[in-house]
Amino acid sequence: MATLKTALVTGGGSGMGEAACHRLARDGMAVGVLDIDGPAAARVAAAIGEAGGRALAVTADISVRRQVKAAADQVRLAFGPITVLINNAAIESFTAFEDIDEDSWDRLMSVNLKGAYIVTQTVLADMTTAGWGRIVNISAIGAQSGATHMAHYTASKGGMIAMTKSLAIELGAQGVTVNSVSPGFILTPMSRRAIEANLFPVPAEQIYGGYPIPRLGQPEEIAAACAYFVSEEAGYVTGQVLAVNGGAYV
Ligand code: NAP
Repeated sequence: MATLKTALVTGGGSGMGEAACHRLARDGMAVGVLDIDGPAAARVAAAIGEAGGRALAVTADISVRRQVKAAADQVRLAFGPITVLINNAAIESFTAFEDIDEDSWDRLMSVNLKGAYIVTQTVLADMTTAGWGRIVNISAIGAQSGATHMAHYTASKGGMIAMTKSLAIELGAQGVTVNSVSPGFILTPMSRRAIEANLFPVPAEQIYGGYPIPRLGQPEEIAAACAYFVSEEAGYVTGQVLAVNGGAYV
């Protein structure tokens, strides 16, 4: 397998996706920075370029197949077949279960779960043709532990874990590994918004202060787990869920 690899990171314009883009670029990959927020993706791609890496910003809503296809085509044109995929983009919402309306349920499923299905289907042929591929699905601690007021979000993230296992079984013989990273409480724009809006049942410090490792996680710590899963060394690891959560759920 050639050492030059092309990665696509969804939600690459912010938080963990941004950290993963930087990490994979530092590890020598060309990176497609895909985000619904075009200027954010452009900012990340430019920063990677300034640091000596190779990156292209592409704008797409991962729940819209034609947008994803156009974005993937742009990345392929610039860097070649996409053989590394980080399915990271997602949205969250905090709502008591009886108040979750169907629009909200559908939007979360559509972005968080269907989006990963669409993006994976869009790039999978690149991997199977190469006989080598790496897919990392970002799930969430709430899929493992449950989380109050997040039944729709945790259901979508539980789906990511289930899809990871099924795809791992289906694709292993074709040289493609599929794993999941399950973040705990990580400091990103998403979690900062929730903290500032007081959306957690108790103050945030009370949550992460009680963990075995009593602090918030950093996006770079999630990126490091992604970097392991997409490495050559992880070639015999598939269908796994690596929780990076400070021991909050063991
Ligand atoms: P973030 O800071 O909000 O970054 C997510 C990025 O994805 C944003 O740039 C967002 O754009 C983009 N995005 C949203 N919807 C999209 C769509 N339909 N198509 C393409 N891009 C879209 O989030 P994060 O905290 O880094 O989260 C990264 C992943 O970790 C997510 O899967 C999240 O569910 C998961 N996670 C996070 C935590 C945590 O503590 N932060 C914990 C567990 C799991 P906009 O900003 O314009 O929406």
